[in-house]
Amino acid sequence: MANEKTGTPNFPGRPAASPFAAAAPPLTTMPFLSSGPVVGSEASGNRASPPARFNGPSMSSPPSSYVPQDAGSYQRFSTPRFPPPAQSMPPSYGPPAGQPGLSPSIPPPAGQQILPPPPPVSFRPQPQVPLVPMGPPPQNVPLTPPIGNVPHSSLASSFPPSRSTLQPSLPGYPNVQPYPASQVPSPPSPFFAQQGGYVPPPPVAASMGLNSREQMQYPNTIPPVGPVQGLVEEFQSLSVGSVPGAMEPGLDSKALPRPLDGDVEPKSFVEMYPLNCHPRYLRLTTSGIPNSQSLFSRWHLPVGAVVHPLAEASDGEEVPTVNFGPMGIIRCRRCRTYVNPYVTFSDGGRKWRCNICALLNDVPGEYFAHLDANGRRIDLDQRPELSGGSVEFVAPTEYMVRPPMPPLYFFLIDVSVSAGRSGMLEVVAKTIKSCLDELPGFPRTQIGFLTFDSTIHFYNMKSSLMQPQMMVVSDLEDIFVPLPDDLLVNLSESRNVVDAFLDSLPSMFQDNVNVESAFGPALKAAFMVMNQLGGKLLIFQNTLPSLGVGRLRLRGDDHRVYGTDKENVLRIPEDPFYKQMAADLTKYQIGVNVYAFSDKYTDLASLGTLAKYTGGQVYYYPGFHSTIHGERLRYELARDLTRETAWEAVMRIRCGKGVRFTNYHGHFMLRSTDLLALPAVDCDKAFAAQLSLEETLLTTQTVYFQVALLYTSSSGERRIRVHTAAAPVVSDLGEMYRRADTGAIVSLLTRLAIEKTLTHKLEDARHSMQLRILKALREYRNLHAVQHRLGGRMIYPESLKFLPLYGLALWKSTPLRGGYADAQLDERCAAGFTMMTLPVRRLLKLLYPSLIRIDEYLEKGSTKADDFKNFSKNLPLSTESLDQRGLYIYDDGFRFIIWFGRMLSSAISFNLLGVDVSGFPDLSKVILCERDNDMSRKLMGLLKRFRESDPSYYQLPQLVRQAEQPRESMLLLANLVEDQNGGTSGYVDYIMLIHRQAQQSA
Ligand SMILES: [Zn+2]
Repeated sequence: MANEKTGTPNFPGRPAASPFAAAAPPLTTMPFLSSGPVVGSEASGNRASPPARFNGPSMSSPPSSYVPQDAGSYQRFSTPRFPPPAQSMPPSYGPPAGQPGLSPSIPPPAGQQILPPPPPVSFRPQPQVPLVPMGPPPQNVPLTPPIGNVPHSSLASSFPPSRSTLQPSLPGYPNVQPYPASQVPSPPSPFFAQQGGYVPPPPVAASMGLNSREQMQYPNTIPPVGPVQGLVEEFQSLSVGSVPGAMEPGLDSKALPRPLDGDVEPKSFVEMYPLNCHPRYLRLTTSGIPNSQSLFSRWHLPVGAVVHPLAEASDGEEVPTVNFGPMGIIRCRRCRTYVNPYVTFSDGGRKWRCNICALLNDVPGEYFAHLDANGRRIDLDQRPELSGGSVEFVAPTEYMVRPPMPPLYFFLIDVSVSAGRSGMLEVVAKTIKSCLDELPGFPRTQIGFLTFDSTIHFYNMKSSLMQPQMMVVSDLEDIFVPLPDDLLVNLSESRNVVDAFLDSLPSMFQDNVNVESAFGPALKAAFMVMNQLGGKLLIFQNTLPSLGVGRLRLRGDDHRVYGTDKENVLRIPEDPFYKQMAADLTKYQIGVNVYAFSDKYTDLASLGTLAKYTGGQVYYYPGFHSTIHGERLRYELARDLTRETAWEAVMRIRCGKGVRFTNYHGHFMLRSTDLLALPAVDCDKAFAAQLSLEETLLTTQTVYFQVALLYTSSSGERRIRVHTAAAPVVSDLGEMYRRADTGAIVSLLTRLAIEKTLTHKLEDARHSMQLRILKALREYRNLHAVQHRLGGRMIYPESLKFLPLYGLALWKSTPLRGGYADAQLDERCAAGFTMMTLPVRRLLKLLYPSLIRIDEYLEKGSTKADDFKNFSKNLPLSTESLDQRGLYIYDDGFRFIIWFGRMLSSAISFNLLGVDVSGFPDLSKVILCERDNDMSRKLMGLLKRFRESDPSYYQLPQLVRQAEQPRESMLLLANLVEDQNGGTSGYVDYIMLIHRQAQQSA
């Protein structure tokens, strides 16, 4: 770095007068011509990067310095000027100096200089950028024959039989004595017979045909075997004829519990504490916090939370905004907790006590209000921060270490051979263009583009140009950025140039036959262009990176590695370049989304790392072809570009004394032990965290949680979104079970299992997940079975009745299922990245999708939205649900599979498809579109409604006919999780297995 330290003290930035600017010949107005020999160089790569921790206990501190640029596009905004260069200025937002930020344990970054400076972009003469006419850049690599990119519609993996089994080995487990009744007040529970009248069992029991032997033993519905009566609120049980030695399991599959209504947000959480934030923002795996280490360890399931800070709320339920103005935000002096509904006021309103650390704080004069006879502030109802669990504070300047940056979108597009052929370029260019008016942040929004194959192509988008100018850099070893001031432009000012570029982009590379991909060098170039402002980097990758730094090799297809200790290595990046780049990107507030399109191995394990540590997302369209997948890409890219996004964010979850969040799971990078760095985070991202007890015994009765997300809004305001919730401390295991939230538990188990696949064999990951479920059920059984003589019955808590089924579904999910042959490696990795970020509801739907019969509705129903409910209900995910005269939709939130029964009325299929399905063996080529008849309109209306119920992804319909093999197996049958398939158990067998093993120590 020595050669860069002369001249300017720190980051040289973009020179006020770039050395080549004056020397360059006048700009031509020829489209896509460079303005002449461009000089410049890249003096360093990413050497400045410090060692970073990846979701470990801590990460190195923010970058050392930030020096303003004096020229360039940023100056066009009417935002405050940067401080002078001498003032050290990290781009990351830590707590302001002098005012402890999110926690006193995090020192303010100002003045920290422990990291070497960021990579500078200096400009030494290097006249080697050629003039390039519009069109594909010169090919300076040997051309290889074009590789066909045959469209194929397979979004699902094949699912051939695997030899995996469901036989975890279980250590012996000690008997557990019954525990005393809970010492906390119980919330009203619908199953609390003694306290408030008995409520009938859930519909699953009512809907099944009961007989004497195969009964679902809801207490009170059958004669109790022992003194069960007193336990009606406690558990449900299944009668199984599986006493040891019995050959025939007497379990009626119809009686098994199924989550046919999807996710149900827990009520107990808000019933007991009505001031809590809505569960859409925060859910606990159990809202009964164990009071001791011993109780904690008997729970076996994760104790923790799923946080979805920017969850979309319906109209009228949005998070209220509060601006304290010059008074500043009211926070606890000691622990920095934000004022919230659970703080208490005293001393006539002059003091307030922090609910997290119990410190008595002064109420600032401007915030003072008298208390009423009950000790409530008289202005309580006018104070959203005191009357509700979610609030958004407008942050004053102390919460900024530089002015809020404008929203920035930078597109890094691989234009090698298949980009044009597959139609990807055209869809991407048109979609971006169609979204330009809706990009957040007008009129400050910044935009830029970079394309690459074996060379890197920059585009000058300066507003004074009529057409963009293309500059090609072919030196991949020593990347430099030509014309750094005009590669990122203000969208409003350069709109015409951007439009012209997007109009031309597809045709420019339509006939490109270059098969190489200099991805790594291009990524570094994008980083150099973006790193002063930060923002969102969208990567569109069509092939395995093959040239320059970060080049990858074909390593994904070695089946011999599976089942060995090296298996997991395939699922993590091989080249440290990717983690290092991710660390640098996060540090400079750049969030990455990766779009991958190839049907060949692209090493998503490596590419996805860029999204994983920058708060981003991986979109995967294997074998993309625009005629088949175009609509999905259009929708999802548009959603990505226009959804609510929080920029330059950090998040912290505080909680009361005695408990602490110790592990976090999702897409982010840890900046300290508990501060999550999120360069760009949006309304589709959720995070999970695990709680641990710091003391052997909690003496408080309530634990409080507070999630704080500090971010820059698209409009350029610094804000803090705060969600606060309380949960009771309990001393009774039964109470923990009663207050359990299966959705949150499954979210944590999923994330833990996927993470385990990165360090262990798939089999190990599956088994350890299942073992936790099993231990939990066994522990529960031990609580009740012996003293109530429940013998051979399977018993389980009402709150966890779906847990075994979700566990089975997770076992069969794409990231975890089978072995080598059961999912392609990229597909596995992509699914893993996706599932790590999903909110609870979406994850549960992916694990247990809806299956609905629709032919009757199409024939008889009206087009009214609610009429559909009269005709259809969700069905168990099993082939037994499929009638060969029926038409069904399978919807996992990511795609629709539409299944045509063999005996379906030909009128229906003709109306919907315009062909007679019986004479049409292969539906893979049939694309569903609206036809001019009622039935078709009804179906399309239905699909639209399903999509609108969760707008994050676009479900592309795939059609399949009964017995159309292998497509039927691939698309549908392998995903019917209740069936025995691919060497895995069906639901009934699985329950029997769990039951047998849970009994072992009972
Ligand atoms: Zn405090």
